[in-house]
Amino acid sequence: MNNKFDVIVIGAGPAGSLSAYYLSRKGVRVLILEKCRMPRYKICGGGVQSKVLDLLPFDILQISHKTIHDLVFTKNFVDPFSRHFDKPLMYCFMRDELDQFLLEKAIEQGSTLIDGVEIKGIDENEKITVATSMDIYYSDFLIGAEGPNGITAKTLGLTTKDYSSLALEAELYPDSKTFEAFSGSVTIDWGTVNGGYGWIFPKKDHLSIGTGAFFPGGKYVKQYFDQFLVANQLKKEDIKSLKAAILPHRISDKRIYSSRTILVGDAAGLVDPFSGEGINNALISASLAGNFLFELMNGKRKDISEYQGVIDSRLLKENITGHEIRMIFNFIPGISHKLLKSNDRVWNSMAKIFSGEKNYVDVSKRFGKYWRPLYFISQKFNSSKTP
Ligand SMILES: Cc1cc2nc3c(=O)[nH]c(=O)nc-3n(C[C@H](O)[C@H](O)[C@H](O)COP(=O)(O)OP(=O)(O)OC[C@H]3O[C@@H](n4cnc5c(N)ncnc54)[C@H](O)[C@@H]3O)c2cc1C
Repeated sequence: MNNKFDVIVIGAGPAGSLSAYYLSRKGVRVLILEKCRMPRYKICGGGVQSKVLDLLPFDILQISHKTIHDLVFTKNFVDPFSRHFDKPLMYCFMRDELDQFLLEKAIEQGSTLIDGVEIKGIDENEKITVATSMDIYYSDFLIGAEGPNGITAKTLGLTTKDYSSLALEAELYPDSKTFEAFSGSVTIDWGTVNGGYGWIFPKKDHLSIGTGAFFPGGKYVKQYFDQFLVANQLKKEDIKSLKAAILPHRISDKRIYSSRTILVGDAAGLVDPFSGEGINNALISASLAGNFLFELMNGKRKDISEYQGVIDSRLLKENITGHEIRMIFNFIPGISHKLLKSNDRVWNSMAKIFSGEKNYVDVSKRFGKYWRPLYFISQKFNSSKTP
């Protein structure tokens, strides 16, 4: 095989594969290096907000397990209520299937995949040199798409996240009666652990159940998970897989590029600080990154440093506001729960964020001059409160 490419992408998650797809579609020679053999299990709820469909130039619904119109909320396991939205709110995927689907789209466009490979070293001088367990590969540019704590960011000395959340996720196969009870909606519990929530996403034949929280609530995530199972009368014996992972949040202009490298998705710390969802921002950053590198290679961009502005003008304010909403929510979980239950405007705002008709910044603007003081009080409260 010729070892020279235009772009090397490290990581075949949604961010890596979609970046590769866009570049290959334009005739760029792309190599994807992935440490696992694909398809591989990925710890993730697999909940994808309906707005994500608009980001993709192809249909992914054919591999969706469920279309969700209804959310069931509890606060600290009690006071349950259900909310319905006429349009789809979200879709539930298994990540091994979704990631393989996106990867195949990139390969169809001409990307080369080498999976089951270990990265031994990255050098970024005149050219990119990536030494692996199989061979050495060269390119003009590199995309780091390996998720949180990625080797690219580490090697190049880039610290992209401001803070992290910790999340636990299990694939649970209950009896058919229990499965039916959860299969028509997504279940969310919040207000139990500071800065965290629990979820149940139904799949075709089982439930993906998890809990997550940003630190310091993160250290209570396992205890919360056990309580969440009990509260929903789900059994530990029905769990087939239980894993934990970090979600990185970037709410400042930390650098996400180097002289020949750009970062996308979790590698750039782009997980939504309010919802803890990262697929949406992984795909947004991938489409921006693919387009940006193509323009850079064709002289339409002067310098790789412009990448930061491209990502930040689209995602930074939104992620900062998502973080602020999460802080305010932690400050007043009881009021937030009640408002969502009884106030149609509040519920519709949330539903419209899922469908893409609104975003976090739109929501914050409705509070006008009260937003900043509310956030600052919440911030003080959050830093003093134990979970
Ligand atoms: C418990 C949990 C639940 C979640 N639930 C949701 C949810 O319901 N909805 C949602 O939108 N988001 C969710 N997320 C977040 C979401 O999983 C991530 O934001 C998303 O996967 C980011 O995509 P990515 O392509 O940037 O990285 P990843 O999906 O992590 O892909 C990175 C790829 O790089 C590979 N890789 C890593 N290191 C190397 C290396 N050294 N060399 C080569 N390859 C490497 C990995 O094997 C992987 O295939 C959840 C996260 C967790 C932890």
